[in-house]
Amino acid sequence: MARGIVKNWKQVLGYHFTSSSEDLQELIHEAIDILHTCELEVVSIVCDQGPTNQRLFKELNVTKDTPFFLHKSKKIFAMYDPPHLLKSVRNNLKNHGIFFEDKVASDEPRTCFADWSHIQKLYEMDSKKKICACRKLTKRHIEVSGLKKMNVKLAAQVLSHSVAAALNLYVGKEDFDSKASETAQFVYNMDKLFDSVNARSWKHEKKEMCALTENSDHVELWKETIPWIEKWHIRSSKTGKKIYAACKNGWLITLNAFIGISEVLLKKIKFILTGRFSQDALENTFASIRRRGGFRDNPDCNEFRHTIQKVIITNFFKQSINKNCQDDDAYNLIDFSSFNKKELVDIICSEDSASSEKDCAAENVPHVDSLHLNTLDSIEENVLSYIAGYFANKYFSFNDCNECLKLMVDEAKILANHTVLLYFKEYDISKSGLKWPTDNLFQYFVNLHECFSTNFDLFFKRNNISKKFQDVLSKVDIEFFNDHLQHKEKAHFFLFLLLLE
Ligand SMILES: [Zn+2]
Repeated sequence: MARGIVKNWKQVLGYHFTSSSEDLQELIHEAIDILHTCELEVVSIVCDQGPTNQRLFKELNVTKDTPFFLHKSKKIFAMYDPPHLLKSVRNNLKNHGIFFEDKVASDEPRTCFADWSHIQKLYEMDSKKKICACRKLTKRHIEVSGLKKMNVKLAAQVLSHSVAAALNLYVGKEDFDSKASETAQFVYNMDKLFDSVNARSWKHEKKEMCALTENSDHVELWKETIPWIEKWHIRSSKTGKKIYAACKNGWLITLNAFIGISEVLLKKIKFILTGRFSQDALENTFASIRRRGGFRDNPDCNEFRHTIQKVIITNFFKQSINKNCQDDDAYNLIDFSSFNKKELVDIICSEDSASSEKDCAAENVPHVDSLHLNTLDSIEENVLSYIAGYFANKYFSFNDCNECLKLMVDEAKILANHTVLLYFKEYDISKSGLKWPTDNLFQYFVNLHECFSTNFDLFFKRNNISKKFQDVLSKVDIEFFNDHLQHKEKAHFFLFLLLLE
């Protein structure tokens, strides 16, 4: 996965099925070559701290003092994904506790101990209060296991400013361990550190989360934090023996890489959003693949290949639909809009290659042109009308056309039996600009629904559900677009794609 630093784009570059004896080095250099051929300048590589990746860093001679390697004499920085580093700090804190040196410039530096039991106690006491000091801290944060262990948000919320503040509030009250102020100090430092490598916008109320510029304090903070981390040590909670925590070295490499990157980049660009140096884009893609694959943990190579194609194409369509509301998510570089849409939809709708079943569902579909309406009650009609309006809204962020607008949106907002919900929704959230569907658009959705229910059994009797879905529902004609043939296909296609999603 390649990702833009200046502009917010992402692009799957390729995938590779690994075995234990893999030469990742060669792949990395190959990928950089490809990007350079596209005239993209590669600044850094980012990965998590899996054993293969740690080995890769060793082979590339990436260390905390030289957080880079050379590609045809060009310096390429290397770092670990900060959210992963934060999680492993949290895990070490929970499993063993972390010794660190107090950063406050007192006469003698003293050794402090960050202790998970303080955070646990904070949760136990605070959750019983009528008004909580730390409302965000929940059972899920304390009982970290299984999938929750993977969740970055949980780790970030535990190691947050508000937990540090709440710990300090409790210190000295109700028999709370006075040593908890040390844990608070550690949490506070981690919060600040993580913010500084997670900046996502130019301005933010927390100064570390603002963009890095010549005048921001990021580099200074990192230079102070590096010696602080160097003094961390972790002892096994069971044996008391010192243990090696990979995340300590990981943070040192990463912060030194950030310092190097800022020196290089600030000569060329005015600001850097440090949050772009994470593998979020990759994680999101993997999450979509898992969802698409029905949450199977171990798809085979064919399944994976098939699923990733679907994910890439679906993302492209989603982004053309949601252009305006996804500021956080990067856009894809490849533009599929010139591709044959039918072929693309076929890829999206096709089932895993395993089922080579060729029988076409459409052949067995009862004709749907003669539908009789209204098996819906009024609540359902209202919901459907709301959905129709929602879809229309999405459609216009993709195709802003006045003719289409007239056909799909009722600007007079006439209150009818099926628009009561819209009326109340609009009253709730007055600024959201809900779209009221025209009778025609509403009727189209009623028809879709009717067709869906009539064929319900058919959908679930066999494999290839989404393909059948497509075959059957695409027969519901979007008749009212006959006055505006220019966009008939477009409208049909997009409403449909949304529905499939
Ligand atoms: Zn139009």
